[in-house]
Amino acid sequence: MKHYPFVLFYLFCNVFIYAFQGSFWVYLACFLAFSTVVIWGSFDIGLGYFVNSITHKRTKIKEVALTFDDGPTEFTPQFLDLLREHRVKATFFCIGKQIEKYPETFQRIIADGHTVGNHTLSHSHSTGFLSAAKMTEEIKQCDEVMQRYGNITTPLYRPPFGVTNPNIAKAIKNTRKKSIGWNVRSLDTIINDERKIYRKVTRNLKKGSIILLHDTSEKTYRVLVDLLVFLEDKKYSTFTVDSITNSKKK
Ligand SMILES: [Zn+2]
Repeated sequence: MKHYPFVLFYLFCNVFIYAFQGSFWVYLACFLAFSTVVIWGSFDIGLGYFVNSITHKRTKIKEVALTFDDGPTEFTPQFLDLLREHRVKATFFCIGKQIEKYPETFQRIIADGHTVGNHTLSHSHSTGFLSAAKMTEEIKQCDEVMQRYGNITTPLYRPPFGVTNPNIAKAIKNTRKKSIGWNVRSLDTIINDERKIYRKVTRNLKKGSIILLHDTSEKTYRVLVDLLVFLEDKKYSTFTVDSITNSKKK
């Protein structure tokens, strides 16, 4: 998988040379095709184009992972109450700066027995354009905040916006993280209709699915209320993401 960009680049160079002898439009079409593949590869975490991300668990039993990104926030405590009520453990990919804002909530996530993962210090909108050194800093500084407030270290990393590229791949390697993706996307930060979000998640659920949610709104909380009932009805149990990486070490 890792060599895909290079193979593609090689093929592109060949096409490029031919194209230059041909028309400008052939060149342009090739260039656009190449760019599309690269951009698509950067955003689609399931492709594993630049980084091999874990997107699901290989399992024969009916189990799924609930993952919550971008917290802790003011909404996180109610998520924790609900999960506790249902005796469900989840994985929280926390942003360093959010931990600094809500250190007690971060400590409660850990105390409640959930798994935490690194989601960078600042979740920068320019994540896709940062240098490998800057990306490494983003991850390391989040690690430091987690250590300071939670006395915890994590091998798990989730790329902000699911974006991966060669610089991010280097940063993941430098910090020895495991990149964690998803195969069920709720789009809960984009879609407003709670029923739509609920349907999107439940429709695509399979054994071993990793579900991407955000503990950043009342809306997602209400989706979770129904989702937990759905999981119980359909006899799904839940796993935390560290159970995949732990069993892989054996
Ligand atoms: Zn995020």
